[in-house]
Amino acid sequence: FNNDLQRSEKMEIISELAASVAHEVRNPLQVTRGFLQIIGGSQGSKEKEYLQLAISELDRASHIINDFLTFAKPAMDKVECLDVGEELRHVAGILLPLAQMQGSRIEIHLEAGLYVKFNSSKFKQALINIIKNAIEALQETGLVTISARKSGGYVVISVRDTGEGMTASEIARLGEPYYSNKTKGTGLGLMVTFRLIEAMQGTIEFQSVKGKGTEASVKLPAVKP
Ligand code: ADP
Ligand code: MG
Repeated sequence: FNNDLQRSEKMEIISELAASVAHEVRNPLQVTRGFLQIIGGSQGSKEKEYLQLAISELDRASHIINDFLTFAKPAMDKVECLDVGEELRHVAGILLPLAQMQGSRIEIHLEAGLYVKFNSSKFKQALINIIKNAIEALQETGLVTISARKSGGYVVISVRDTGEGMTASEIARLGEPYYSNKTKGTGLGLMVTFRLIEAMQGTIEFQSVKGKGTEASVKLPAVKP
């Protein structure tokens, strides 16, 4: 018991630390990227190639931070009663530019009065990794539909996309660290999401048809406000 307690305290400290490091590192990455781009405008072709490599490495570092800690805040562990609709609208708003950039759409259908008990930053992180994958699975003009409803004692959140879909064996590998089929993927997004949903005492399931699309269903214990 004592050991468990010590270990979970250690985990809290590590995750707080990781959160603040992520925040501090994100800014210099962005600034450095900007300067490299400016320099790239006035160089010979060999130097340009090196600068391009440097920029894409910086982008890789940002992707890793984003998949782990997009919403990380120092006071990360405050657990509260969350309005699921409000949280989902926030996350969808953040991802809308990504969808629009490739000419695709996001639709939201929310039942009113859905509440879960968890940390707001972590809830958003879990959902952003799912929704970002849905957007990235679309080819050009596609649709991501986010919906939330009550079912029994649970809040069920569904994220559907009309994207490339997955085979059963691809679905079986989701959540495995570093499993990615993307050129710029980290393969860490769903690993983080699965852990967070487990911590919420929830479940996640995927249904997919190759070439047609995917639906991720997240089921979380509902609470009263
Ligand atoms: P990453 O997005 O960095 O590749 P993830 O852990 O978020 O890592 O996802 C792992 C892999 O699962 C993706 O590379 C992709 O092949 C597959 N995947 C996840 N969500 C979907 C989806 N909605 N449609 C199709 N494939 C998906
Ligand atoms: Mg991802």
